[in-house]
Amino acid sequence: MRRLMSAVAVGALMIAGCDIAPTAEETAVSTDDQPLRTIIVETQDAYNEAAQNAKPGDTISLANGVWRDFDLVLDAIGTKENPIRLVAETPGKVILSGQSSLRLAGEFLEVSGLVFRDGYTPRNEVISFRRDSENLAYNSRVTQTVIENYSNPDRTQRDFWVVMYGKNNEFDRNHLSGKVNSGPTMVVRLDSEESQNNNHKIHLNYFGPRPIFGSNGGETFRIGTSKYSLTSSNTLVENNFFDRCSGEVEIISNKSGGNTYRGNTFYESRGTLTLRHGNNTLVENNLFDGNGAPFTGGVRVINAQQTIRNNYFKGLTGERFSGGLVVMNGVPNSPINRYHQVDGVVIENNTLDGVAAIELAEGSDKERSAFPINTTFANNLVIGSGAETPFNLYDDMSGISFKDNVATQVPPEAIAAGFGTASVDDTDGYRAPINGAGASGSFGIEKEATGVSWYPKASLASPFTGGKEIALEPGENKISEAIANAEAGDILILAPGTYNESKIVDLQIPVTIRAADGGEKPLLTFERRNLFLLSSNGGLRLDGIEVSGERAPDNVGNSFIASTARGGGGNHVLEIANSAFRDFTVNRSFSVVSAAKGTFFDKIDVSGSTFSGLSGSAFDLDAETDNYGIYNIEMLNVSDTIFQNIKGPVASVYRGGRDESTFGPFVIFENVDFTNIGGGDAPMLILHGAQNLRLENNTAKASQPVEFTITTGKPQPVLSNNEMVDGAPFMTVIDLR
Ligand code: CA
Repeated sequence: MRRLMSAVAVGALMIAGCDIAPTAEETAVSTDDQPLRTIIVETQDAYNEAAQNAKPGDTISLANGVWRDFDLVLDAIGTKENPIRLVAETPGKVILSGQSSLRLAGEFLEVSGLVFRDGYTPRNEVISFRRDSENLAYNSRVTQTVIENYSNPDRTQRDFWVVMYGKNNEFDRNHLSGKVNSGPTMVVRLDSEESQNNNHKIHLNYFGPRPIFGSNGGETFRIGTSKYSLTSSNTLVENNFFDRCSGEVEIISNKSGGNTYRGNTFYESRGTLTLRHGNNTLVENNLFDGNGAPFTGGVRVINAQQTIRNNYFKGLTGERFSGGLVVMNGVPNSPINRYHQVDGVVIENNTLDGVAAIELAEGSDKERSAFPINTTFANNLVIGSGAETPFNLYDDMSGISFKDNVATQVPPEAIAAGFGTASVDDTDGYRAPINGAGASGSFGIEKEATGVSWYPKASLASPFTGGKEIALEPGENKISEAIANAEAGDILILAPGTYNESKIVDLQIPVTIRAADGGEKPLLTFERRNLFLLSSNGGLRLDGIEVSGERAPDNVGNSFIASTARGGGGNHVLEIANSAFRDFTVNRSFSVVSAAKGTFFDKIDVSGSTFSGLSGSAFDLDAETDNYGIYNIEMLNVSDTIFQNIKGPVASVYRGGRDESTFGPFVIFENVDFTNIGGGDAPMLILHGAQNLRLENNTAKASQPVEFTITTGKPQPVLSNNEMVDGAPFMTVIDLR
């Protein structure tokens, strides 16, 4: 009789929207001694009481609603037949916000249906599979849980969203999206014997976009650390979807042994699955689909006894450390935290289809002089994306045995004997093996098969789309009033006339401000030291607007658009088209855009615009001066634009230090006219530590040369058809390497 009542209670909970497998009903076993109970709790005190008294078979259900600042701990002992469950009354309707976190300790626990958002953890982690260093979780599971918009507002504060400790734990069908502060999104720790050889299973999760971090520390997933890297983790990472996980050069940093990465999809993700430390890891049946996006890569191989087989690599544009396939050189007798030699690695039956670069013996230099040995490269199908072979060889190939591969372009002579040639048709689909070379069967997983069904996955659309159109007439504070009520993606359409703003606009969402069709350019003036202060996801698209600084206050260092760390750190995008900026001259250092320390722009795109009369810079992006490899902007792209009478440099970009973990900054100026820049002494552009640079078809007069400082790496600036009318060089290079 008790059993029947209990089953009804559990059944009612399931009807409320769970699609968790296996269900409580299917696995739970009740006895007369241990009835199944469902305890719905509505307060933190009630939860703590239920958790302290939890018995095997109990389900503690958090009531729907927002739970703020909840230091949630489940430290209990369930059994295999009767785990202790912590569930949402309705999956997705229980929100943990503010300073909330979850810690698990004990055995046979299962958590599901929670959403962490609108806050950040006060601890090192949001979800931890331990209560403290003495109390770990074993045989426990977190499933169908969401963490989104839960980044520390200070980008430099390091934390983790999920940390797995203990053994035999499972993390499945979860959704982790949009971490913007320092530290990997998820890690598996091996820092005590209780957490080694852990047999964890991480599967069917949706890893949503990880925006560019702009420094080391933006990995999406990591197993181990260099210190424990010669220990086995034996973790299975299977059927997960990595969607635009582009934080840094390592999507995944594998730093332990005996792991398996199988059947995962990596979509438009910059960088690589990096086998950074540790041996005996298997990478198979994965899909690396770069979709032609910049800096997308596949697998980077270091260490011994790694196997990379039956993976499909497609549309990957990255090179060097971010190539489609990268086999590194090692350091002889390497310390544990440097590069161990590639030894006994097997790379077989992979298809590399439309891949820009396959880098072999990459990183070869005085220190990294140990080339790969005892290694096999067999039955792979290689189709480069360009006219030439994608293979680049940086050292001795005698330790790699090439056999029975097929390539569409003749590989370099040193390895060509291991390849047959074939021609292929253009196709968007997946290619079958040719003469036994290439991947077969299935690889990767569909996005919709991962994560949860009740929480939307990240859109592929531009941040400036999807909103409503709002028509404005000229007047006072029309723009600040409209933005106070705007939603992400909204478009403000300005009729001709003057719009004066007496307030600073805190912009935390992307919006567009554009001229009404057919009319004159609306004029925008402002009375505070900034008009737009960007934080969180703040972004702006300006199209057809004239901006004058004539009414700005008599302060040093005004800026029309400034970023700030105070409202929460997100990645910003600015798009400026067909617009004009003038009379930014009151007092000194009046800029159009300025970045604060601890803030980051994904992109500033400028086209068809005019900047005339600035006492500062158009783009002041040099606030990160610590020389840790941190910087303010990933991509500054300026085309078909005029700059004249600008006192500071047109742009000042700074990335100091020698870190190898990032791709940017990337600076492009194309079809640009510079006149009277720098007041006779400042350079036209200050580009310190830019990793990529393209200057084409630009003209300058009455200006000093561009100053490009190389700090690290091997940047290859592209310069063509630039003219300095007065005969000086267009660019000077300072090499600090
Ligand atoms: Ca890293």
